[in-house]
Amino acid sequence: MRIGLFFGTFNPIHVGHLIIANHMAQHPAIDQVWLVVTPHNPHKEKSTLLADHLRLDMVRDAIYESPHLKASDIEFHLKKPNYTISTLTHLQEKYPQDEFSLILGADNLRSFHKWYNWEQILANHRLYVYPRIASDSGTLNENPVFIEHQHIEVVTDVPVLGISASFVRAQLAAGKDCSFLLSEPVLKYITDRHLYQKFGNKKGE
Ligand code: ATP
Repeated sequence: MRIGLFFGTFNPIHVGHLIIANHMAQHPAIDQVWLVVTPHNPHKEKSTLLADHLRLDMVRDAIYESPHLKASDIEFHLKKPNYTISTLTHLQEKYPQDEFSLILGADNLRSFHKWYNWEQILANHRLYVYPRIASDSGTLNENPVFIEHQHIEVVTDVPVLGISASFVRAQLAAGKDCSFLLSEPVLKYITDRHLYQKFGNKKGE
């Protein structure tokens, strides 16, 4: 099977994430998309980052009806701090029959050459890159290392929404209605447990 990995903190998972994951799961070269939940990093204390299992639960709830989307907690069990290359190596050992690719926003591609062992990632895995904002498509080729690399495919027909988890957290903390920003089970999960009632000012806090 050809599996596209979509990494994120998903704090919480919102419709922007779901639209990308669902769209990419229908790409002709991808059979399934796994949403890989990044665990809490003990070296980076972030006050508004919910516990790993809560964020994983929300991802599971959000995608429960989608056979092509799966939630993955693979990184919860790896040594921290963890690098993407270790996750890929681990997955490849665990599922030798499967082929793993990465689904990345263009913002991530710009700094990709700073990732640990990025050459090894690129040599062994495909990257599917989508523009984060409409104007990104033009700047995708800024990084010369990646121009026309055979393992990189820029997917331009992706409907990208300008929302982020920090925006959603701020809305929740302000008591705003988030029914169109979050899928129904995720909103229910959050409401039932009174989550995100405080908002950290810094992005990602
Ligand atoms: P935060 O605001 O807390 O940083 P986020 O939603 O930007 O959250 P993650 O939960 O880590 O970030 O997102 C997972 C991945 O999804 C990241 O690679 C991020 O670039 C991407 N992403 C986030 N929001 C969107 C969106 N609206 N459309 C497309 N991709 C998104």
